[in-house]
Amino acid sequence: MTQHTPGPWTTAKDHADTREGIQIWDSVEGYIIADVVDDQHDNSAANAALIAAAPETAAERDRLRQVNEVMLEALRDLVGQGDNGNYCDRCDSSLAEGHAEGCPIRAGEAALAAAEGE
Ligand SMILES: [Zn+2]
Repeated sequence: MTQHTPGPWTTAKDHADTREGIQIWDSVEGYIIADVVDDQHDNSAANAALIAAAPETAAERDRLRQVNEVMLEALRDLVGQGDNGNYCDRCDSSLAEGHAEGCPIRAGEAALAAAEGE
């Protein structure tokens, strides 16, 4: 995949554009990345700001993916604990019946299932 320019990107009103366009600029390289014109609504500035935030948004997405992997691994470790044979050593419930409400392993199982889409 081709890399996007790293940013930051900024917005500026295009004074030559009679359609109320907003330009998105690569602030480092100093060139126009896009012209945003919404001539049906008054959303050009908001749309341009959203697009201009793309490099920071992508960086935050990547950071959160890494954090998510760490948390999922911690949840997998937690869910794997507590089994001392027939009873959970955290909530004293029979493992055949499942963990008691309030058991951290039960909460971990639910969070892991939600995160993994189960
Ligand atoms: Zn338990």
